[in-house]
Amino acid sequence: MSVYLTNELREQLLDADDHRCVYCHTTQANSGYPMVVDHIKPRSRGGLTLFINLCFACYRCNLFKSDRTESDDPLTGEMTPLFDPRHQHWTEHFAWSNDGIQVIGITPEGRVTVIALNMNNDAIVDARRNWVRVGWHPPAVRE
Ligand SMILES: [Zn+2]
Repeated sequence: MSVYLTNELREQLLDADDHRCVYCHTTQANSGYPMVVDHIKPRSRGGLTLFINLCFACYRCNLFKSDRTESDDPLTGEMTPLFDPRHQHWTEHFAWSNDGIQVIGITPEGRVTVIALNMNNDAIVDARRNWVRVGWHPPAVRE
């Protein structure tokens, strides 16, 4: 989705999100695709184009997230909000598998986000496997 951002807002987002997807932590360098701007609350549901409602996401996470803000938790059957990168901390909701290849949801919000955004899809898992082979490690998470 094409969004007009002022240079100031774009810089603010790049700095906050460290040039990587706020959901799966794929970097632009690793994916080969520019990050896209994600409205955490979609514009179609009244979400505003303000820093607090914007983040950078990889193309895939943005595509799978679509206009969703919540999803069914398969463990509880409860409708659960997706991870909100502006109000929640990644490390409190996600962890990397020991081999650095899978993102694991460690809370209900993390779990539904991993599933809804297909964060361990075959393409990204293959890519992570290749990155690990050449010495890449999941990025250190700033808190
Ligand atoms: Zn992503």
